[in-house]
Amino acid sequence: MTATSQAEARAAELETIYRAHLAACPRRHVGILADCQQGLRLRSAVRAARRAADKGAP
Ligand SMILES: [Zn+2]
Repeated sequence: MTATSQAEARAAELETIYRAHLAACPRRHVGILADCQQGLRLRSAVRAARRAADKGAP
């Protein structure tokens, strides 16, 4: 497995976790009214992983 596909798999895994959280959590996650700290952490983790995966792509 290459580093790129590992980063891609990590990003996809985090996105799945984040989407499951959005489905399960009743709090707001977008806009200035967002009030879910766990959701914010998950989203930033998804974005960081996605950035890393994109950066590693050819
Ligand atoms: Zn949440």
